[in-house]
Amino acid sequence: SKSIVAVVGRPNVGKSTFFNKVAGKRISIVEDTPGVTRDRIYAEAEWLGNSFTLIDTGGIEPFSKDIILQQMRLQAELAIETADVIIFMVDGREGITAADYEVANMLRKSNRPTLLVVNKIETKKLESNIFEFYNLGLGDPIAISAKQGLGLGDLLDEVVKLF
Ligand code: GDP
Ligand code: MG
Repeated sequence: SKSIVAVVGRPNVGKSTFFNKVAGKRISIVEDTPGVTRDRIYAEAEWLGNSFTLIDTGGIEPFSKDIILQQMRLQAELAIETADVIIFMVDGREGITAADYEVANMLRKSNRPTLLVVNKIETKKLESNIFEFYNLGLGDPIAISAKQGLGLGDLLDEVVKLF
């Protein structure tokens, strides 16, 4: 059956922006308010002849760090259960947070194929920001800019290799 790719990560890292770029339509809601995506949203996508279902995850608007963490744990658990490939997205401008470490640990222990994606890397200068993400223990970070559409092809190459 068709492969499932789930995008998980903290509110505001750019999951929905990425989802919309790959899905080719503006389906998921992008807001400057963190975590505005209310539900999981599905889209059919294709890369190099591989069709797959892409899942955007979000949650209700978070009131507190505790709620954000709770939602992220749930997202990660759902992704671990249902996805063939998990894209764990982090914010290349903000750096690693405690919540990132927690989710990274869950994903690593699950042994699900996971790609660590560092978003918001638009410039050469920002590229050196990706190195700290090696500390998450999920292998080589992949730099993209979902907004500018940079690095998406290379990332999707890695995704379909894992099917
Ligand atoms: P989500 O909460 O993870 O789904 O994040 P969104 O996709 O809703 O994006 C949150 C904010 O980050 C929005 O203001 C986006 O425009 C912005 N954003 C998303 N991708 C990028 C990117 O590649 N570069 C920059 N600079 N901003 C981005
Ligand atoms: Mg979203």
